[in-house]
Amino acid sequence: MGDDSNRIFDCVVIGAGPGGATAAIALAQKKRSVLLLEKAPWPRSRPCGGGVAPAAGQYFDFDLSPAVQSTLTQLRLSWKFSDLVDVDVQTAQPLWSVNREIFDDFLVQQAVTQGVTFTPNCPASSAQYSGDRWTITTPNGTFSARYLIGADGPSGPSPSWLNLDPPATHLGAVLVTDGAVGDRAYFEFGALKNGFVWSLPKGDQTWLCAATVRGKDVKEAKLQQILKDFAKYLKVTPTAQCQTIPLRLWDGDRPLHGNHGLLVGDAAGVSDPFSGEGVRQAIYTGTEGAKAVDAALGGNVGAIASYSEIVAKELGSDLAWAQRLTSLFHRFPKLAYKIGTRRPSVKTYIGKMMCGDMSYSYVAQRAIRRISAGLGNLIPGFNKS
Ligand SMILES: Cc1cc2nc3c(=O)[nH]c(=O)nc-3n(C[C@H](O)[C@H](O)[C@H](O)COP(=O)(O)OP(=O)(O)OC[C@H]3O[C@@H](n4cnc5c(N)ncnc54)[C@H](O)[C@@H]3O)c2cc1C
Repeated sequence: MGDDSNRIFDCVVIGAGPGGATAAIALAQKKRSVLLLEKAPWPRSRPCGGGVAPAAGQYFDFDLSPAVQSTLTQLRLSWKFSDLVDVDVQTAQPLWSVNREIFDDFLVQQAVTQGVTFTPNCPASSAQYSGDRWTITTPNGTFSARYLIGADGPSGPSPSWLNLDPPATHLGAVLVTDGAVGDRAYFEFGALKNGFVWSLPKGDQTWLCAATVRGKDVKEAKLQQILKDFAKYLKVTPTAQCQTIPLRLWDGDRPLHGNHGLLVGDAAGVSDPFSGEGVRQAIYTGTEGAKAVDAALGGNVGAIASYSEIVAKELGSDLAWAQRLTSLFHRFPKLAYKIGTRRPSVKTYIGKMMCGDMSYSYVAQRAIRRISAGLGNLIPGFNKS
């Protein structure tokens, strides 16, 4: 540590979740010197469902399977715990269920193997760019770097250091339970207004999640009660208190870069506004963020600004469809659920979308057409609204 406080790193990455670890790995592979600062003692658990599209593996040149707890080939959907729809995931690779403590540590260990300087239990409390470098203050001393990647999740300070406004947060909650419910992810749409609840199996445990995705958040106590009721319904036993944590859902393209720095993952607010999925997006933005910093270090002065454009073009254009679907679905959720799940094709599409085999825009455009047509037949004046 003593030497590191005198050194100027090529890049400091704030936060060692999947966004930060991915960026650190990619930069180290380009032979850039990287300091990865993490607030929590490591390894740390992260309240999260841990449903990860296997398409996330495409961003690494190593195998992620040692970090995958189980693979899921079945999905169940319901409306107020009835109207059940069972879906076979017909994809090349089934959906992954990961324990974030293991998954995130696996990525960090890869970063360390590539030469990244990893410093856990070391919150960055301030960062300032002056002259030709960032100076980052922590309880373990100050550090310097040419570029900064903010990967500090949904409530970290890095957006303000870059003078950027991330999207508003929504409330999410996780309840860890003992008891297995089979190799199936379960999504329940009627139990939580403007959101949904879901469960993912992790060996002998089942992790239950709830999140609002639009409008006003429900009270924390209400979210916790909904998850307790969900546990009762699934006949699983809570092992600890319910944990609440914000989500930062994409709500439109916005600048993700500032002076010699950029944001990735939840710090950038790129989670899917329909499903709350954010791990794959954190990995994608971590990859692109690292490419931009590497190019800038190599002399391409426009690379940092191009990062915002690339993310808007490649990810934002897709997430815009997820947001349109969210707006439509949650206006008339019961009818939208019934219309959306009535079609046999939903069984093919939904699995492919969740595993990353089909783009959001492809699936959402079809779903929007069908739901709009169905609502138009049922609600007088709907097509004019
Ligand atoms: C209830 C819920 C369920 C979810 N379920 C899923 C799911 O099933 N699948 C999915 O894909 N996504 C899910 N998500 C979203 C997913 O958890 C996030 O999108 C993802 O964790 C974002 O990764 P990240 O690397 O950007 O941030 P994080 O994973 O949040 O990591 C940020 C890291 O930064 C550290 N940090 C914060 N401040 C500082 C600081 N000042 N200095 C140093 N370090 C700092 C934190 O300790 C943390 O380790 C869920 C979210 C919620 C709330």
